[in-house]
Amino acid sequence: MNIIYMDNNATTKIAPEVLEAMMPYLTDYYGNASSMHSFGGVVGRELNAAREKVAALINAEPGEIIFTSCGTESDSTAIHAAIRSQPEKKHIITTRVEHPAIKNLVEYLGKNGYRVTWVPVDKTGVLDLDYLYGHLSDDTAVVSIMWANNESGVIFPIDDIAETLLARGIVFHSDAVQAVGKIPVDVKKTGLNMLSLSGHKIHAPKGVGALYVKKGTRFSPFMIGGHQERNRRGGTENTASIIGLGRACELAGTHLAEIVTRVRALRDRLENGLLEKVPNALLNGKKDARLPNTTNISFEYIEGEAILLMMDQLGICASSGSACTSGSLEPSHVLRAMGVPFTAAHGSVRFSLSTYNTEKEVNFVVENLPPIIERLRNMSPFWKEGACKVQ
Ligand code: PLP
Repeated sequence: MNIIYMDNNATTKIAPEVLEAMMPYLTDYYGNASSMHSFGGVVGRELNAAREKVAALINAEPGEIIFTSCGTESDSTAIHAAIRSQPEKKHIITTRVEHPAIKNLVEYLGKNGYRVTWVPVDKTGVLDLDYLYGHLSDDTAVVSIMWANNESGVIFPIDDIAETLLARGIVFHSDAVQAVGKIPVDVKKTGLNMLSLSGHKIHAPKGVGALYVKKGTRFSPFMIGGHQERNRRGGTENTASIIGLGRACELAGTHLAEIVTRVRALRDRLENGLLEKVPNALLNGKKDARLPNTTNISFEYIEGEAILLMMDQLGICASSGSACTSGSLEPSHVLRAMGVPFTAAHGSVRFSLSTYNTEKEVNFVVENLPPIIERLRNMSPFWKEGACKVQ
């Protein structure tokens, strides 16, 4: 069975070019990048070339890039760096829709001496900027706001927020794990202090990420150990994966135009096709301020899991923001923060495309999903009552 992979916000396929770049460093060139001998030096040079490529994608300086093990580590490093270097400040601001990498860390800090402000979003997933600006204080150690939301795809106005925060001298971090490689990200233009990215969202392997730290930002390492990464992250570098990340960033730069045009057109075809064909289907997220590859649609009165299972039988891979995917009975915190009604949140499905998707695949989903929804609705007691059917 052919797999139709539309779950690229969860993880991506390793690009063949990335694998090719990595292979020599998994086989022949296994030296330690920090070694004095030239065998290790070869690896060290390639590591720095990768640093230049990662920096180039986001318009940073190579020295401002720290390699990490994943987006989660980059996020943790950023928040810890901000609070450890300003121990007198005890207030953190973030949003209600962050990925657990930030959400759970900040919740933990909230139980351990920090005051936390959670900025709300409206029903289209758009951030309440007045609330954010109204809660800034001299005690604010860090503001952490994702660049784009992983579930709804909604993009936040990071440039505008950065301008306000910089003027107030408040440390600003953005989790840009979903934005990098899908929309232009320029750290010089934005001026924010720290930014997280992750390899496996942009066709590099899992287990590698990077943190951008603007020159001059006070920093203290999270992983305390060896002198790697100029004493900013202890631990022998995952060289092959870092080299893969470098190549993936190069490719992402080349493919950006295709993502904002061809992939966006595919996403729109998928979204419009489903919204037109299926009654009681609702788009979650502001239509015109979203990642070009993401659509999150609620099919009212049925369960997202059931939809995923039936799509799975046809080889279609997507995600759901409803119950058991997260191991809980609650719909996702993102959909709840957006105020998506219970009956719709439970039936949400996120499709996230990549440059590997084709029009044929989109047509297949638009053709085959509506009958699945109909079948499930015919089994649903809520739908059968008839009260909810659109006339
Ligand atoms: N932040 C966002 C917005 C994400 O979507 C993810 C992964 O889904 C992460 C952070 C965590 O990244 P990683 O899986 O590399 O730890």
